[in-house]
Amino acid sequence: MKPLAPSSRHLPDEAATLAFGRELAELLSAADGFNRDAVVYLQGELGAGKTTVVRGILRAMGFVGPVKSPTYTLLEPYDELLVFHFDLYRIADSRELDFIGIDELLTAQAIKLIEWPERGAPRLPSPDLSLSLRIEGDGRRVQVHA
Ligand code: ADP
Ligand code: MG
Repeated sequence: MKPLAPSSRHLPDEAATLAFGRELAELLSAADGFNRDAVVYLQGELGAGKTTVVRGILRAMGFVGPVKSPTYTLLEPYDELLVFHFDLYRIADSRELDFIGIDELLTAQAIKLIEWPERGAPRLPSPDLSLSLRIEGDGRRVQVHA
């Protein structure tokens, strides 16, 4: 994974969060396919903007349909794009990940975007890129971790 420098940025409105997602998509879609199986952690409380970042990534990849947190199904696969969107919010025990065949999903050649990754530990690989979001004023702040 080409490194994204650790940084912190204010996102004044939803459009800014979507634009940030588009930037990430560029990194993840590098022409050499280098990042095509990246594991991306998206942390932050409910409403912090995690799914909006995912929507920005998917829009940049050409997906025009609705993008929602797969809170009940844990996983929304975008098969044509080779992107898996996980939301582990409802997981009580990381062993529940076995029911969705997590090991196979994680070894697939796909970008894995994971909301609430802390709930899936210790069944998840360490991330190639880790982000956290939080509410700041009327907007959000995103932090890119080292
Ligand atoms: P999460 O997935 O973290 O629960 P969402 O991405 O669903 O959060 O976003 C929750 C709400 O926050 C949405 O209504 C979204 O439009 C809004 N939102 C996203 N980014 C921003 C921002 N930078 N400023 C203000 N509102 C935002
Ligand atoms: Mg969400």
